[in-house]
Amino acid sequence: MTPNVRPLVAGNWKMNGTREALDQIKAIAEGVNRPLSEKVDTLICPPATLLYVATALAEDSPLEIGGQDCHQNVSGAHTGDISAEMIADVFGSYVIVGHSERRTDYAETDHLVRAKAEAAHAAGLIAIICIGETAEQRQAGQTLDVLKRQLSGSVPHEAKAANTVIAYEPVWAIGTGVTPTTEDVKVAHAFMREELVRHLGEEGKTMRILYGGSVKPNNAKELMAVDNVDGALIGGASLKATDFLAIYGVY
Ligand code: PGA
Repeated sequence: MTPNVRPLVAGNWKMNGTREALDQIKAIAEGVNRPLSEKVDTLICPPATLLYVATALAEDSPLEIGGQDCHQNVSGAHTGDISAEMIADVFGSYVIVGHSERRTDYAETDHLVRAKAEAAHAAGLIAIICIGETAEQRQAGQTLDVLKRQLSGSVPHEAKAANTVIAYEPVWAIGTGVTPTTEDVKVAHAFMREELVRHLGEEGKTMRILYGGSVKPNNAKELMAVDNVDGALIGGASLKATDFLAIYGVY
């Protein structure tokens, strides 16, 4: 937690979810419609095929809907891609950029991730910029160096606390059921906070820094209580409304 910062509990569905999964969106939209939503923001990023219907289902709920990636350009000859404007057009309000699966599967660089975050801002979206070290980098003692490099390369110089969220996701913790110790999370988040303040001044003080990587109902409470952890980016456990709502409920 960071004083005076509204936490964000975000779900990343990745390449999961056909129309059947819309029931889960509905259940989450209903489940977050309670007094807690005045203190905590919630977001689900379904596959692009479900975006438009999902935003309609969440219309009367505090639940926000977002994309999982966007192209750095507004439109054009880019088969298979979607732009930040397209996400905004169907009432999405966030987009994830630079997820480690995109960095690995499509060789996305920090430079490209920054261009995508800038495109998100230009379209009026909040960019969730993902960073995190691999197992090899961690074993080599390079975790903080990697975070420093990814933050300075991926975060736009004009980023504001209102339009940018950082998600720290150790690559080795994603989908593995393994998480860092709370002490390791504390050290990493304190370091990112310092770096954000160094780069962005005042804005860096209240920019949200999420933790992601095997967040589950049974470990969310202790992870979310760590200093400078301002919410979660949840993969697997966001696919089931009951799990997502249990994590939200730790606040
Ligand atoms: P996980 O995924 O919660 O399934 O580990 C997190 C993510 O990749 O955002």
